[in-house]
Amino acid sequence: MSLLEKLDAAASARIAQLPSGLGAFGIPIEEIYSPTEARIGTKRILLLGTNNYLGLSFSPECRKAAHEAIDQEGTGTTGSRMANGNYSGHRALEMEFADFYQCRSCIVFTTGYQANLGTISGLIGPGDVALIDGDSHASIYDGCVLSGADIIRFRHNDVIDLEKRLRRLGERSKNTLIIVEGIYSMLGDQAPLADIVRLKKAYNSTLLLDEAHSLGVLGETGRGLAEKYGLIGEVDFITGTFSKSLCGIGGYCVSNHPQLDQLRYVSHPYIFTASPSPATIAATRAALKLLKNGRELRERLWENARQLYSHLQALGYQVSPEPGPIVATILDSPQQALALWKGLLENGIYVNLILPPAAPEGKSLVRCSVNAAHTTKQIEYVCEVFSRLYSSIIQ
Ligand code: PMP
Repeated sequence: MSLLEKLDAAASARIAQLPSGLGAFGIPIEEIYSPTEARIGTKRILLLGTNNYLGLSFSPECRKAAHEAIDQEGTGTTGSRMANGNYSGHRALEMEFADFYQCRSCIVFTTGYQANLGTISGLIGPGDVALIDGDSHASIYDGCVLSGADIIRFRHNDVIDLEKRLRRLGERSKNTLIIVEGIYSMLGDQAPLADIVRLKKAYNSTLLLDEAHSLGVLGETGRGLAEKYGLIGEVDFITGTFSKSLCGIGGYCVSNHPQLDQLRYVSHPYIFTASPSPATIAATRAALKLLKNGRELRERLWENARQLYSHLQALGYQVSPEPGPIVATILDSPQQALALWKGLLENGIYVNLILPPAAPEGKSLVRCSVNAAHTTKQIEYVCEVFSRLYSSIIQ
């Protein structure tokens, strides 16, 4: 088989796994009106499937900062941080992140995906071990593959399984990077961080926590799961993204280890790519300020999250293990999930359809995510539509 024939075969195999009638996969959004409303085709729809947790995508402060940066510094840096793409804004944002976490250093990457790729592949290599949660995001898995280290998965959020694997590693546990996420992107559940920190200390391992979905969402000042448990000082490396609560694009890693800065010399996903554009950096700096002072936004977000979660649970839907901004309904089959997703869209509600193998344990998910900008009325409307669809689709 030629390379192109192999690609055709792989794509056909993937398409064959999908339920029929999935014409609208990757559906284009024609116009965006606000953090909660957009147009798809001719229909005005309610956005309930974004990662815009604090609802900052249209914030006047961020837009103004981005406009000014374009006017003053142009549209792109045209180069990497190691060469011509290292602007004072990149350094300023790194210092602001380090200050936010009260950590020694920060590195800004061009995407959240690259923050994981670059940090993981810089920290471990052949002969080392990556011990990762079974539900890890692809950026974590790909970073481990790039590193050449041995990859071992432990059962999702199962500290007994994690300890069993650490014990089996013996002396190698010292060369092991344990990787977990603050909030998991599919089911929205949180890592049992206190137990994981206890184990990483007991076995002299190193811990990396990806706060992509928990930045802005958890902790008194929005620093994530590590802040919620008062454990920022105990986690070796924290990565995250600008593309969710901060409404930009880019990623970061913070740490108290002075070695974090050495990654700049060895990490290919940092070295061999163009740096984030001036507008991205300026908007992210403005968003970080809003996030730090965003207690009211977080409270609003959690009110919306609890309202939707408890309502769907009361209706009889099988939902995420715990309440949070990601509220997944878990369906028995891809057909059922597709029917629910289509029913919601017909009623003007946009959510995410997640089918195997992307969803954990072969499940199919209709994944909703709420944000701080949703009104109580909007959430009530969503609950009403879920209620109407329950009898036709689930029962
Ligand atoms: N980590 C996790 C847990 C994610 O869910 C994502 C994106 N969905 C990323 C990293 C990558 O972030 P980005 O899309 O900003 O590159």
